[in-house]
Amino acid sequence: MEAVLGILRGMWLTTGPTVANFERRFAEWQGVAHAVAVSSGTAALACATFASGFGPGDEVITTPLTFVATANSIAYRGATPVLADIDPRTLCISPDAIRARLTERTRGIIVVHFAGQPADMDPIMQLAAERNLIVIEDACHAPGATYRGRKVGTFGQLACYSFHPVKPITTGEGGMLVTDDAELSRLASLYRNHGISRDGRQRAEAGAWEYDMTELGQNYRLTDLHCAIGIEQLDRLTDSLARRRVVAARYDDAFRALEYLELPERPSDSESGLHLYPILLRLDKLRADRNQIFRALYAENIGVNVHYIPIHYHSWYQRQFGFRIGDFPVTEAIYQRLISLPLFSAMTDDDVNDVITAVSRVLRYYGN
Ligand SMILES: *Cc1c(COP(=O)(O)O)cnc(C)c1O
Repeated sequence: MEAVLGILRGMWLTTGPTVANFERRFAEWQGVAHAVAVSSGTAALACATFASGFGPGDEVITTPLTFVATANSIAYRGATPVLADIDPRTLCISPDAIRARLTERTRGIIVVHFAGQPADMDPIMQLAAERNLIVIEDACHAPGATYRGRKVGTFGQLACYSFHPVKPITTGEGGMLVTDDAELSRLASLYRNHGISRDGRQRAEAGAWEYDMTELGQNYRLTDLHCAIGIEQLDRLTDSLARRRVVAARYDDAFRALEYLELPERPSDSESGLHLYPILLRLDKLRADRNQIFRALYAENIGVNVHYIPIHYHSWYQRQFGFRIGDFPVTEAIYQRLISLPLFSAMTDDDVNDVITAVSRVLRYYGN
């Protein structure tokens, strides 16, 4: 609150020094050369697909099990989203499924580190190198996650984060694009500000009024007010992740003993960002489907959710690209069983116990 008041009392409400500070701090934290602050995770993805140069006729591969914004960022460019099914163990896109979807039109891959679990980046980056593809990491679930000892967000040419309130750190609304590539960073910055060569602050500092619009961009700027919150939040990320690890470990212990559900794998060569805690119901051992279990947990006052309705279930994607239910059987079988349990750093031990008790009671009641 003090940080925000400091901005309100100062000179710049937007595109001032605090945006640049947050970008510098974020780039340092990520260990990359460039960070571009934008108004949402969706805006970060849109800047990434713009900077990648995707256009009509290009195919870009992504996962069906994600929020619509991931696939939308491909469609915004007039490019074609191609879906590749998931690995049922980690719920992330399967490298083998990606390989099966490659064509001579494939230009890129957007991976999602689902629930915070890093996608299997080594084979994916190898495939991308063989075929000269751009890889964008949708790391909205995964700030701080590591794969084989290295932070996610540093594998692809570009990575995107969201600072929506449900995400691990928040600015209210906001997002960040990170990259080591100066040209990709320049293009993303351009797209963020209408495709105009100089922003207001640069013009003020140069004492000049001229500018040129070289690309068709957007207004995806983030304000100094938001970035002041972001700087404070970034300092809390480590503690927040540590608390979520404790909560997840308690869940793991309790639920491994319960025969009515399975847990996705978290392979030992990676550390999840633990944004979500998905469980997979054993429908063969239950007299109820996912929706009934969901409602029963809701009635127990547990804030459950389902992440996500697969991309190809949405009517726009069916109409626009001809996707049908049946196209991605692994994702579909998982989706029928999927529920996300509450997982956030402010959970008390009592909250955790309440969730464990409610899940155990509901599943035992419906167990056969
Ligand atoms: C939240 C989220 C987005 C979009 O971020 P916004 O800040 O809400 O626009 C994109 N991809 C994934 C995987 C997300 O979880």
